[in-house]
Order: sequence, then C-alpha cells, then structure tokens
Amino acid sequence: MILGSGWGGFKLLRDMDKKSYDVVAVSPRNHFVFTPLLASTSVGTLEFRCITEPVRGYRDVEYHQAWSDAIDFEKSKVDCTLNLPKVPRTYIHKSPTETLEDTNKFTLDYDHLILAVGSYSNTFNIPGVKEHAYFLKEVADARKIRARVLECFERAEMSRSDEERNGLLHFAVVGGGPTGVEFSSELHDFIREDCSRLFPDLMNHVTLAVYDVAPTILASFDKSLAQYCMNKFKRSGIEVRTGTVVEKVEDGKLILKDGKEVPFGCLVWSTGLTENPLTASLEGKVLKSKNKRILTDGYLRVLDPNGKVIPNVYALGDCATIKDHELPQTAQVANQQANYLRKSLNKLAKNPEKSLEEVVQPFSFKNRGSMAYIGNWEAVVDMTKVNDNAKESGRLAWVFWRSSYLTMSVSMRNKMLIPMYWFMTWVFGRDVSSFQEYDRFKKLDA
Ligand SMILES: Cc1cc2nc3c(=O)[nH]c(=O)nc-3n(C[C@H](O)[C@H](O)[C@H](O)COP(=O)(O)OP(=O)(O)OC[C@H]3O[C@@H](n4cnc5c(N)ncnc54)[C@H](O)[C@@H]3O)c2cc1C
Repeated sequence: MILGSGWGGFKLLRDMDKKSYDVVAVSPRNHFVFTPLLASTSVGTLEFRCITEPVRGYRDVEYHQAWSDAIDFEKSKVDCTLNLPKVPRTYIHKSPTETLEDTNKFTLDYDHLILAVGSYSNTFNIPGVKEHAYFLKEVADARKIRARVLECFERAEMSRSDEERNGLLHFAVVGGGPTGVEFSSELHDFIREDCSRLFPDLMNHVTLAVYDVAPTILASFDKSLAQYCMNKFKRSGIEVRTGTVVEKVEDGKLILKDGKEVPFGCLVWSTGLTENPLTASLEGKVLKSKNKRILTDGYLRVLDPNGKVIPNVYALGDCATIKDHELPQTAQVANQQANYLRKSLNKLAKNPEKSLEEVVQPFSFKNRGSMAYIGNWEAVVDMTKVNDNAKESGRLAWVFWRSSYLTMSVSMRNKMLIPMYWFMTWVFGRDVSSFQEYDRFKKLDA
C-alpha cells in the first residue's frame, strides 16, 4: 500500500512489479504534480494540464481518492477518509445510526506500507499567514494565485486613489528559496510581457518584492550564483528585502518586525516545510527528526521510538529522512528513493527467503545539483556538489533548465504539451481569462 501520489508515491505505484505485488494507492489527490514547473502555471506560461499525470491511468493499481488518517502498525491497518463529497442522505441505509460522516470512512489492510505523504508549507505560526497568504504546493494553489494576480490588476484599474492602486499592485513573496525565486521570476515575466501590454497605465504602480530573514536569497546555492540572482533581480526591478522579519499578516497588509507596514495585493508564502497531519499523528509511534520528519534506517524502513525497525513499513520523500543522514526535501531525493525502494522490494519478492540486507545495499543519495529559473529566459544551474567548477548562469543555464525539465516530465502527452505551450506563450502571450466566480449579492460589509 502506497500513501501519496507525489514524487515518491507516484513513481512507485507506476513502476512496482505488479506480478509480485498487488499495488494499492491512497491519496487525496488523483494525480501527480510535476512541481518544478508549478510556478510557470501560476501565471499562465504553461497550462495546468501540462504538469499533471492522472493516477487512474494505471489500471493495474487499486486507487482510493482518500486521506489516510491513522495507522495501526501492530494490526497492519490504515484508517482512511474519502476525499470526495458525501453521498446524498437517501443512500444511508446500512444501519439506523449511520451518519453521513461514516459513509466516508473505511479501513484497509496492508502487507507492506510505504509512506510518501510529503509535507505542508510552514507558516511558523505567524498570525494571519494561513488566512491571508497564498501557498504554492498544488495545482489548486497555482490556480488561485493566477486568479488573484488578475483580480489585482482589474481592481486597480477601477481604484479611486494612487494609494489603493499601489497597495493592490504590490506583489509580495515571502521566502527567497528556489520556489519563492522561481515564482517571483515567472510573475515578473508575466507583468513585463503581458500586463504591461494589457494595463499600460498601471505599470508605474506595480512593485514586486521578495522578503527573507536570511542575508541572501537562494541560500542553498553556490554563493556566486545566489549573488548573480540578486543582481539580476535588482536590475529587473524586483526588490530583494533580505534580513526582513515578517511578524504578522493582516488583510492586505504585511507587518514587519521593525514596525513598518507594507500593503499588498497578493502575498505568496514559501518559507519552508513542516509535517502534515498524518505524520503528526504518528507522534510516539515512530522516531522523528528535530524538524519532525519520520526517521528511517538506510534501507528506508521506518524506526519505532526505540530505534527498532517497524516490520514492512517504509517512508521516503519530504515526510522522512534517514537517521544520521539528513536529506534535502527535494523531488530529486524522493525520486531516487522511490527508484531504490522499487528495486529493493522487487528483489525481495524474487528472494522471499532473504532479508532486505541480503539483497540490497543501503540507500545513498547522489546529489545531481540544483537549478532555478530567474526570469527573462535566464536560470542558474549549480552542480558544484558534483564538480567544484560545474555551475552556469544566464541564457545557457536557462536552455539547460528547460531541456532538463522537459526530459524529466513523465508522459509523452506532457512532453508534447509543454513545448507547445512554451511556444504559444512566446507567440501569443499568456492567457489572461479568469474563471473565478463572485457572489454578486454577498454583503461586502457583513
Ligand atoms: C513549487 C515547487 C517547486 C519545486 N521545485 C523543485 C525542483 O525544481 N527540484 C526539486 O528537486 N524539488 C522541487 N520541489 C520539491 C519537490 O516537489 C518535493 O520535494 C517533492 O514533491 C517531494 O515528494 P514527496 O513524494 O515526498 O511529496 P509530494 O510530492 O508533496 O507528494 C505527497 C503526496 O501525498 C499526498 N498526501 C498528503 N497527505 C496524505 C494523507 N494523509 N494520506 C495519503 N496521501 C496524502 C499528497 O496529496 C501528495 O499526493 C518543488 C516543490 C514545489 C512546491
């Protein structure tokens, strides 16, 4: 049983040997998301369909569109709740006491369990973030951001004062890691290439800023590449406000630690990751790292609070890390781990009398470097972990960035759609239709 359909879970459910295993997948999301290109969809450089792969495409996998809520390791059972609307009341007939809630609950048994449930965005409990900021983890998030950016421009067009216009057209990104940087770059491209054409009178009011507590953005990259990105942002007019602490967020307003208040129209929050509710529910049942990731041994087997292996339970990707070998929370790690676990379990099935230690070596992560898009057809590629001098920035890096992600995209359909949309965006610009619905009769002051 595989929990999750992200980088770790999806690869496993696709590639496991179905002759040896009956594969059951449980995930609230019925598709895989190719996250490296998610920021591109949030402004319409690519369409959402270009970066998703449906789980239902794999008919040899038993799939349940559900959340796993709790795990009983002793009984090898997982409690789940369907991530679907409840059935109409007419169909409640099992027992007179059955509630609508009950019809969404079910329990599954497993022989082998793989946890690949990812993580949530970390708000560090800063007041107002959950209520007023947008996150960028799912297609639904990208869709909301795209609608909000357009909303800000349309609203600003009808604003009654410059103060209001400036506030609505201040786009704030909190977090200068790769996700924050790539989103800012995509948004800047959208504003420069499309909004400037569609809303020319508003351009003097637009500002875009990246806020980070650290002294630099792209802190995990080679220093010279991080500096290259900072310089490029400054030249492009993207403000980089490093060493800035956000203390509170209110409706349309950031409140900084130094007391300054910054009005914004759209705030995107990307300051790192924290455990999700399922991982949190395993407190006391599994060993966890300082930053609340499930700890495994080198074979990706989950450890109990005493450090002993829990039989037939594995964890990988963002939700887990190897004891004494902290791994980065990246698609690269999740992908390599899924590949490793697939091979291990397939070998185990062929040699049932042997233990995992006898059929495979422990997992070892091969860092192949990192890349980030930094706008205006430029990128940074950092492979200094592979070779000291292997780094590139600018247009050549951008060609490498695009071709790598095109090669890595999963299906033939997306390998065709992605370049097609890149070309269409280049020729016709991004689509600015918004499908957002508003309640015309809602009392605005209520
Ligand atoms: C915008 C963005 C850009 C990124 N760019 C890069 C990049 O360029 N390179 C890179 O290496 N990494 C990148 N990453 C990081 C990368 O996406 C993650 O490290 C990777 O997705 C982790 O894979 P995972 O399988 O652990 O989790 P995820 O891919 O997050 O998948 C988790 C899955 O678990 C499901 N799930 C959640 N809760 C439950 C539950 N209770 N029960 C069952 N299922 C559950 C979710 O619906 C989802 O299907 C990026 C991330 C983002 C958000």
